[in-house]
Amino acid sequence: MNIGIVGLGLIGGSLGLDLRSQPNLHYVWGISRNQTTCDRAVALGAVDVASQNFASIPQIDRTDVVFICTPISAILSAITSVIPHISQTAIITDVGSVKSSISLQGQMLWSRFVGGHPMAGTAFSGIEAAERSLFQQRVCVLTPGIDRAALEMVRSIWESVGATVYESSPEAHDRAVAWISHLPVIVSAGLLLAAQREGNDEISQLAQKLASSGFRDTSRVGGGNPELGRMMAEYNQTALLDHLYSYQQTLQDLITMIEQGQWQEIQTALEVAQHLRPLYVRE
Ligand code: NAP
Repeated sequence: MNIGIVGLGLIGGSLGLDLRSQPNLHYVWGISRNQTTCDRAVALGAVDVASQNFASIPQIDRTDVVFICTPISAILSAITSVIPHISQTAIITDVGSVKSSISLQGQMLWSRFVGGHPMAGTAFSGIEAAERSLFQQRVCVLTPGIDRAALEMVRSIWESVGATVYESSPEAHDRAVAWISHLPVIVSAGLLLAAQREGNDEISQLAQKLASSGFRDTSRVGGGNPELGRMMAEYNQTALLDHLYSYQQTLQDLITMIEQGQWQEIQTALEVAQHLRPLYVRE
């Protein structure tokens, strides 16, 4: 297949590495904002060719599928930019972490558009962060639109790099990921920011020296890519705020139990939490 990737960072670069590791199956071209990124993507083997300009990509008019892997704010404009260069039969899909603000508008721009979101990431960003097998045993959400055949084609590509595909409406996706992805980013960032409020330098430095696996786990997503976190908040504001208020109330309930020395109630709440975790996290 002839596959394009627009936005050669963590997600776009990782997808390119996996697609190109499937011998002789795909010709993968890339577009990115900076020429140095394009050069690195070629050198790392994430794409066959890369450029800042669509017009200079060989055989772009024979593209089968284009993956838009830019930051969320640039996805719709990237769709608009690629359209003049591809044939009517080409499929466009994206990897943006929010879907309500993208899937419907994407389809209005291009009837063969399929909204997508691979649930995979690391704390790092940019082409140097790209890694092989990032999507192995991960979930990818696709939002069904007008064109069923287009969705099945995108599904087969995600499955070929090891992902399990789920279908969802954009709205259900955004409310669900607000719980399991966007809320944790804000909660985790809040933990780091709160720890920094310790007024005593000696205690603060000691805490930094003592921090171990528990703090590494709970601070990981809050200490990740700030631009990505900001976009989650900006583009999924309603669902994220709903969930933050619910979290705030839950935290207040726990604070009250601790203030009032309700140790059995605290233990019961933690037992419920312990039973809930395997519903979300499969280890
Ligand atoms: P990233 O590492 O920062 O990569 C995005 C790349 O896009 C940048 O390296 C940049 O390349 C390029 N870019 C920026 N604006 C562009 C434009 N207008 N045209 C072409 N290229 C442009 O970010 P990422 O983590 O891969 O995220 C990309 C998308 O994946 C986002 O929509 C995000 O919501 C989604 N996503 C992220 C994660 C995650 O955990 N990171 C998980 C799932 C989905 P230059 O170096 O050339 O500027």
